[in-house]
Amino acid sequence: MFNFENEMKNVFHILLLLLADASLFAQENVQSKIKYHTEKAQNYLDKEKALGSYYSITEEGIKIFSSAEEKKINKQEFFVPWKELGSFYSIIKNVKPEVLNQIYASGTYTYESCKKYFPVTAPAKNLLNEDQPTSTLPPATLYRYKIAIDPGHIAHNFEMGDLEKKHIIIKGDSINGIKDSIEIAEGMLTYATAILLKEKLESEGAIVFLTRTADKCAFGKTYHQWKKDDLKKAVDSLYKIGEIKSWQKDHFNSSKVKDRDIFRVIFRDLELAKRVELINNFNPDYTVVIHYNVDETNLDWIKTTDKNFNMCFVGGAFMKNDLSTKEKRFEFLRLLITDDLEKSIAISSSVMKSFENELKVPTATTRDAKYIIEGCLPTEANGVYCRNLQLPRYIHSPIVYGETLYQDNFNECKLLSAETDKTKNKRVQQVADAYFKGILNYVNSSPSK
Ligand SMILES: [Zn+2]
Repeated sequence: MFNFENEMKNVFHILLLLLADASLFAQENVQSKIKYHTEKAQNYLDKEKALGSYYSITEEGIKIFSSAEEKKINKQEFFVPWKELGSFYSIIKNVKPEVLNQIYASGTYTYESCKKYFPVTAPAKNLLNEDQPTSTLPPATLYRYKIAIDPGHIAHNFEMGDLEKKHIIIKGDSINGIKDSIEIAEGMLTYATAILLKEKLESEGAIVFLTRTADKCAFGKTYHQWKKDDLKKAVDSLYKIGEIKSWQKDHFNSSKVKDRDIFRVIFRDLELAKRVELINNFNPDYTVVIHYNVDETNLDWIKTTDKNFNMCFVGGAFMKNDLSTKEKRFEFLRLLITDDLEKSIAISSSVMKSFENELKVPTATTRDAKYIIEGCLPTEANGVYCRNLQLPRYIHSPIVYGETLYQDNFNECKLLSAETDKTKNKRVQQVADAYFKGILNYVNSSPSK
């Protein structure tokens, strides 16, 4: 006979068991989250094992502190509970950095407390035409992928290369074994590589954005035009926020100041910040930053070197003084809780393999350059290193930051100096091709963006 009371008891019992199970699962889940994020912070983010006083990863969630003193009294700058982590992840992925700043300033992330900050309009990525192509052919591999490319530096000629100190001149003599002098400006190589890579990615359906043109920097003008239009404003605002001192302000406003000083102290970081702003506004799925390397021990690069390596950088490896501002602490948190870093390592690993195969140049190990051992943390991928550079720190997408070939290498300098139009240079074409194949292999082998 059906006994309602007994039946209800059973149902209740089962429910209790389920709940207990769920809470057990949640606990295990929290424990595994604690483990994952603690190891990630230690292995990829905290280069000198000196940042423990800026964060805590506990059963409550992740907290960020502005200093060791604040951590001692458990006064966090920001807190995200575990159960809100998924929601915060998608907010970071979809809203602009200005909105994220507001959320961070509010001190705690919960969906309910922060929804007032979210924009009413859809994020840029959703404004794309999401319709399927009308063709019956399968869509191109990179269909709907948004890729930003940043061609490193700004030089479009040797004079500009000189100003930014990215110009090598190797004298032709018998010791070098080179007949005529060789000149290379890195900015010309990176731009040509970017243009060639853009064409290839577009042919596979990607939407590609470049941060600069051949002769105009990220401000949309030449350095000299920027100096005319914007130097004074830039100097005044840097002084206002305490970035430069009073004597520096006077120095940079005087007519005697050298372009190299303006470039190094004022222009360079501001222009990099502009690149970040442009890239984050574009809201890419991936960002490719293109550089060509040199042998750091070959001072002044007037002779050739036998060394030649490829490497890639991703974010992370914060030093003990690298969490001095709210902005930097937010980026530390972003790298900790999003998968930007994991995806950066995965795509960079694929690009590294392609560099080695296509360019026939070895992958750099930790022994091959001082800055790798001193300023980087190794990842599980050969040749891919965490390094706290300005672009990997502030760009809100997975990133491939490639440093290919030593320009001052005996063979490379000869190859790279050929052709005035660098898009016609065979070696540059190979480099662009290597990036392209690496990206394509990664996309083909990964289940989603
Ligand atoms: Zn460079």
